[in-house]
Amino acid sequence: MLTGIFPLLVGGVLLAATPPPIPTPPPTPALGTLRQQVRRAKPQLSVSPTLDDYHQSPFQPSEIVERVHRLESDRAWAELCGELALLPDDELELFEDEIRKPDHVRHLSCSPALLIRITAYWKEAERRLATAHPLSGFGTLPSAAISIDTSKDSLLHDGELPAGQIALTFDDGPHATRTPRVLKILSDAGIKATFFEIGRNASAHPEIARQVLAAGHTVGSHTFSHPNLSRIAEPHAETEVESGDASVSLALGLKPGELPFFRFPYGAKTAPEQSFVQKRGNTTVFWNMDSQDWKIRDPHRLFLNVLSELDRAQHGIILFHDIHEQTVIVLPHVLAELRARHMKTVFFVAAPAKPGTPAVVPAWER
Ligand SMILES: [Zn+2]
Repeated sequence: MLTGIFPLLVGGVLLAATPPPIPTPPPTPALGTLRQQVRRAKPQLSVSPTLDDYHQSPFQPSEIVERVHRLESDRAWAELCGELALLPDDELELFEDEIRKPDHVRHLSCSPALLIRITAYWKEAERRLATAHPLSGFGTLPSAAISIDTSKDSLLHDGELPAGQIALTFDDGPHATRTPRVLKILSDAGIKATFFEIGRNASAHPEIARQVLAAGHTVGSHTFSHPNLSRIAEPHAETEVESGDASVSLALGLKPGELPFFRFPYGAKTAPEQSFVQKRGNTTVFWNMDSQDWKIRDPHRLFLNVLSELDRAQHGIILFHDIHEQTVIVLPHVLAELRARHMKTVFFVAAPAKPGTPAVVPAWER
């Protein structure tokens, strides 16, 4: 049967062929039209009770844009542009990483205009934070390595740190642009931190992973693709742990199994997995202070939450993510606050030394 641009002869009458329908984003059951999905993204995500719920949400910008991508339709991309352009700035920013992806930029003609708006939004958010909490040059902060015997210490919750000592930890990187900015802020303050990298991100940005280690920070692993290990079958969970470690190690020029520290995504630990991690010679690192930077996207509100966590706990391990813009913006203010409170920052190293900690020079640097 003839289709497409060819004319059809039906009953002796020449009919102009109807061009094939151009796919437009169909309403997705339970999610609504593309317009509804785009407009629900921030309201839905901002009420996610946990980070796991947040990541599982079909309203994640990455999920919404992927559904458009799958249609392979210029019209669908154009419709997405139209919907994004209508969002207020504080909802549009949620789509920044999707708008920046090279794979998406070539489809999104609106990308440059939207990124100008997003950049201006973050500048204004940063200005608001700086107005409320002026940042004066504070020099450097005390920083010390805490030795952990990974063959004996299987779990760290607060690192058993004394009052006034804070271990800064950064998860889910490396990120192409935000991780280097975090490194610069830490370097300016003269301090080290502990990073828990996702295997697939380290594979995508091995040069950034190396920058983290080369700057003297400790790098641990955080699975390959960040699943909730308590919700998947044990063999799958073990593969995630092993391939996450192997990918981060490879990016760093280390051998698999040489990284000293591991962190469970979402802190979702199970007894068999904890035992598996322990047998691999890793110490599991949890946290007792949560910045909630995955959820609190306004830098001023994020800063206030960090202050309340510091007030509450007074010491221990604080969780950040070096993949969020608000985290980069708030970090200098957090460090200034630690300085004002005469607090000391610490980071974890393996003793005896292991290559994932800065005491040992990795293969690529030898
Ligand atoms: Zn994580």
